[in-house]
Amino acid sequence: MMAQEIEATETTAAKRKTPPTAWLLLLAGLVVALGVSYAAYTLAGYSWAQVVDYDSPFITAANGVLKSSRPALDTPIPGATSRRTVLVVIDGLTDATSRTMPSIEALRKRGNDVALTVPQPSLSYPTWTTILTGATPQISGVTTNWYEKRVPLETLMDVAAVSGRSVVVASPKDIETLYSASKVASTAYTDWVEGDYVTDTIVDDALSLAAEKKADFVFALFPDVDEAGHSFGQTSEQYAATAAQVDADLARLIDGLDDGNTVFVVLPDHGHVPAGGHGGWEDPVIHTFAAFAGPGVKPGNAEGRLQDVAPTVALLAGFQAPSGTSGVTIDGLLADSNGQAQVLDTERWQRFENAYSATVTGSSTTVELADAQRLASDRLDRLPLALGLLAIALAVLAAIGIASWRALVAALSGALAYVAVYNGFFFLAHRYAWSLSTFNEESMIQAFFNGRMIEAVIAGVIACAVAGDIYLLMRPEPRGVRAGFNVEWISLGVATALAIQVILGLQVAWFLWKWGAETVWRLPDLMWGFKYDLDLIQMTAIAGVAILGPVVTYLIGRFHPRIRAT
Ligand SMILES: [Zn+2]
Repeated sequence: MMAQEIEATETTAAKRKTPPTAWLLLLAGLVVALGVSYAAYTLAGYSWAQVVDYDSPFITAANGVLKSSRPALDTPIPGATSRRTVLVVIDGLTDATSRTMPSIEALRKRGNDVALTVPQPSLSYPTWTTILTGATPQISGVTTNWYEKRVPLETLMDVAAVSGRSVVVASPKDIETLYSASKVASTAYTDWVEGDYVTDTIVDDALSLAAEKKADFVFALFPDVDEAGHSFGQTSEQYAATAAQVDADLARLIDGLDDGNTVFVVLPDHGHVPAGGHGGWEDPVIHTFAAFAGPGVKPGNAEGRLQDVAPTVALLAGFQAPSGTSGVTIDGLLADSNGQAQVLDTERWQRFENAYSATVTGSSTTVELADAQRLASDRLDRLPLALGLLAIALAVLAAIGIASWRALVAALSGALAYVAVYNGFFFLAHRYAWSLSTFNEESMIQAFFNGRMIEAVIAGVIACAVAGDIYLLMRPEPRGVRAGFNVEWISLGVATALAIQVILGLQVAWFLWKWGAETVWRLPDLMWGFKYDLDLIQMTAIAGVAILGPVVTYLIGRFHPRIRAT
């Protein structure tokens, strides 16, 4: 009796004719999945380019309004003492390692040990620009190390020169490309070759040029510690050894230039993560220091931001801050206001704030209010787009659910497995973070994204296997592809790919509402921006799952032991 029944069922099943709509639905699902992948790929490229090529709207404001409405730079500041100033940037030196360097510790002891916060992205060109112009990447438009033209903002060297100082620059050649220092300073550029130690040469050049030109503003940039960080990691012996060597050269520079009346400012542009790398938001990367010592410096422990260094250095030196400065003077380390210098700087800040808020909102208000108002109105503008994406995502799920509620449950379970596997690779196996520091070097970016795409495909294939299993579990007598259910089993793979894209797409929609794809006046939060790019890259890779996934689910429908048993 029992055997007869089964036979009867099988005969019916074998005769089952697949409705043409099922094939159409499968085809439609595949087209949507591949279309979404392509759209995500396009959007990822567009959004990344928006950050790299960010065209700061503040450059005009900073150079126009600010420059024209302030006193001429060669007008002496009433009552100010002109102080000889030496500014040294040690690329990539962490705060922790700086505490092992005797010459920096000596400056701190007789001066001020300032805790600094570095703006995002904590890459070298953006942060050098912040140190020399006082402008954050949002203001300067320098957002990556691919910036390869003259930064259209005044630097401390420019202002020092116009104020009648003899300016000396000793550094790698990038300083010329970015700031045209040779136009206003006596320069000595060192060609840097990988593996070379160059700080000794830079110090020799700085000392001889300073003596020859009777310099009263010296800028030096030491690249070696950063290179050791990238090559060996920040916790390596090589990093510590390079820092020690740099410290000895720094000591020579300080000894050679200290006439008892010179202000010394030593700081890094950013730190490094333990494994080596920067660009992101990690504590050792963005929480750095500046050691200030000399006349006008009040001993102690002050706090500031990287953009505050330029106006503070200018005040101590006795000249005006560069016109694009978005920072303020670090009051906590100033022993005096250097005549009228602080008054002038407060007026400069006022003009900056007016120009900033006018650019952002069209009316004069504070920086904070302008940011809040503009963000709120931008987000309101972007809400329909985000809700539209949400509606599309729900429509895709609804379409799957109407075709088969079991397929929907199975596909969503598969998508959750995808999230677990992909993030397991990302956070647990690789110990990555949503941070630009993850790359370590720019040459690794392509390989990094390729690796994530491969893992997305692997996680997607696993997701399809999970979806197939769950689908089987929901039927007491599962029907395999041989019973005429091949299109259903193939479709389950496509449905799982779509469910993964829905889960990623919802996160992308959130980012698009919060920050937008365009970078118009403000850089997005780069931690979420990094995640957003990775989400889009995953959505791109899911094209591979839309192709491979159906094979996986078909094979489950053909060979799964439970199907064979029935
Ligand atoms: Zn670096």
